[in-house]
Amino acid sequence: MKTITLANGDLVTIKQKPWWLFWLGKYYTITLSPYVYTPDTTYENEDMDVLVHENIHLHQQSDMGKWKFYFNYVFSREFRYQSEFSAYTTQLKWYVDSGTRVNMPSQIDVIGNMLSSANYLWCVSKERSVKEMTDMMVAYGGYDQ
Ligand SMILES: [Zn+2]
Repeated sequence: MKTITLANGDLVTIKQKPWWLFWLGKYYTITLSPYVYTPDTTYENEDMDVLVHENIHLHQQSDMGKWKFYFNYVFSREFRYQSEFSAYTTQLKWYVDSGTRVNMPSQIDVIGNMLSSANYLWCVSKERSVKEMTDMMVAYGGYDQ
């Protein structure tokens, strides 16, 4: 277990995924407030883009109450999409703010594929998420960095 300080001053405590999260798959990270459970590589590298994303889920879970959050996340596609939209766009803005060079259209495409797949229980169409993330990042000024 270790605690990482983000650029905005927030603290995120990460743990390596325990055996009982085996069902999640090797490469996935999950936030179960107050901890973020990561794959070994994310834990070692302290991947800041992942931690910035998961920090949004920490805030969502503490704002709403974590059990209510989990219930809504599991049973409502729109809630799941809104939760991930907020987390992913914060992650994309972090790339811009930190000067991390990424190909924004292809990042948005990859996220759109994931959100419309079994990974996120088909929470949104790819077309909708790509359009809404593109609009958000164009407005933010980080689309064609
Ligand atoms: Zn997420």
